[in-house]
Parts: sequence; C-alpha cells; structure tokens
Amino acid sequence: MEKQLESLKLAFSEELNLAGAPEDLEPMRVKYLGRKGALTGILRQMGSLDPEERPRIGSLSNELKVFMEEALAKKLEGLQTHSVFKGIDVTLPGRAPRKGSIHIINQVVRELEDIFLSLGFNIASGPEVEDDYHNFEALNIPEHHPARDMQDTFYFTSDVLLRTHTSPVQIRVMESSGLPVRIIAPGKVYRCDSDVSHTPMFHQIEGLWVEEGITFRHLKGVLNEFIRKLFGPDIPLRFRPSFFPFTEPSAEVDMGCIICKGKGCRVCKNSGWLEILGCGMVDPEVYKYVDIDPETVTGFAFGLGVERVAMLKYGIDDIRMFFENDLRFLKQFS
Ligand SMILES: [Zn+2]
Repeated sequence: MEKQLESLKLAFSEELNLAGAPEDLEPMRVKYLGRKGALTGILRQMGSLDPEERPRIGSLSNELKVFMEEALAKKLEGLQTHSVFKGIDVTLPGRAPRKGSIHIINQVVRELEDIFLSLGFNIASGPEVEDDYHNFEALNIPEHHPARDMQDTFYFTSDVLLRTHTSPVQIRVMESSGLPVRIIAPGKVYRCDSDVSHTPMFHQIEGLWVEEGITFRHLKGVLNEFIRKLFGPDIPLRFRPSFFPFTEPSAEVDMGCIICKGKGCRVCKNSGWLEILGCGMVDPEVYKYVDIDPETVTGFAFGLGVERVAMLKYGIDDIRMFFENDLRFLKQFS
C-alpha cells in the first residue's frame, strides 16, 4: 500500500507538470482528491491492513493529501500570473498618462494677479451674467450710447446680458465694501465679435483704487511699476488722451514696442509703440450711483485685455489660437 501511495504521488506530479492552464487543475483535484478520487480509493482499503500498519499508512496518506493540495494551489497561482502577462514584456518601460497643465491664459492671469497683489491690491470678482444697470447705466453709459449696440452685446432680455467688460465689478465693489477700495477684477467678458484679434469671449483685468488723495500720479506710478514687472525695467510708457464714459480724464497707455525696442516693426506698425491698456480718473458721475461723495475721495481705474498681454509676451499673432484647444499649441506653454 505504501507503494501504491508512492506511484500515485509520481503520477500526480507528472500530470501536474503537464497542466498548462488554470482550468486543467479542477479535473485533477477531482481525479486525485475527490470523493471518488484515487487517494480516497486507497484510504478505503485501510480496513484490510494490519492494525499496527494503519497509523503509519494513515499518516503517509495524510502527508500526500496535503502535498497534493499545496501543489495544486501553487500551480494555480503560477498559471494565473502567467496568463495575465502572456505576450507582455514586463521589462519594457511603461506608457505614462498625458499630464495636463494650466492654460496659457490662466498662467498670464495668475502672473498679473501676483504683480497687483504685490502692489497692495486685493482680488475681486463679479457675475458674468450682468444686468444693464451694472454693465452700463451705473458706469455712466446712457441708454443710447454706441457701446450698448446690439452688435456688440449678447443680450438675454432687454435687461440681462453677458457682461461686455469687467468694469461692472467696480460698481459692485463700491456698492458693497467700504472705502478705501483697492482691487483688481480678472475675468471673462463677452462681445459679439470674431476675427484674428477678437473672440466672442476674452479676458480682462479691471483695476480700481479709490481713496482720499488719489491722483493721476498714483495711476502712473502703479502702471509703470506693473509694466516694469511684467515686461522688464526699461520699457517706456506713454499716456495719450482718450475717452471712456466712466473716467475723466481718460487715457490710453502705450508701451515701447518690446519686439523692435522702439525702432519700428510689423507688430507695432512701425510706430515703435504698442497699445496696452485704458485708464483714467473715476468720473464723479459714477460715484453718484454708489453713494460716494466725490468731494471726499478720488480714484483711478484701468482695464486691460489678458489675451493682448499674452500675445505680446509670447509673440502670438492670432487670438483664436488660445481657444482652439490644439494640443500642439497648448503644450508649448506647459
Ligand atoms: Zn515694434
């Protein structure tokens, strides 16, 4: 009987070696260890043994049973691992998922925010869906002003619209917070316009500083410092008289062309200057809408286009590139 056990172990081991798939193993378990299996068959003959032989054979059978169970489990593990990695070279380098990055426009917004935070400004925000009052009326833009033209403004109803500039945030901040006010308001604005230099949605940054004793000198100082931090120390600025309904006096600000250093090139149309922002002293008419006495405080406001800054900074000549989501473009700024 001991011989029977030994030859059974041999037959089992040979068969196990030949097994090539996990599903080969269950029939083997039944064949050797099942209720009608080979080992069980041998154990059934125990009754015919001498009583003194029985403990030894019993213990040998038990050892064989444990051996078979463990061998089957180990083989199963090996076969499963093997089938998962079949045809795959696990030593090859992996394929990493593509990493996203911050959009170029948001990078520029953050850079501008950092500069103005360092100049003592706070960041404010307002709704993109505005009412007529905040977008136009309280900014001293009367009913028949050309800026209200249907061609420029996206209206929902006659009173509700997509803001056409970030200036309504000035009104909302002056309405809700006490003086002094020293904020910038970055955000999306909308106009019905599309070509190489216009997209229906673009980004502006509004600035507002209202406090006792603020003059045009403070405005020039802040803007000079801003341009110096953004484009470098030796960029000249020039203020040209201009008109905005909510500032008086108003100015357009040009900076020396960063591409030709003022000699004249295609980008600056040979003038040596680039338009960069609009600004002015807050018009006393505007204070009336927000219950501020124009006799007690003065202030200045400015606004600039984020895309314009990004285009100048990175030499991009078509504004639509920012919003086409072409990875070949976006990856250059990651
Ligand atoms: Zn130039």
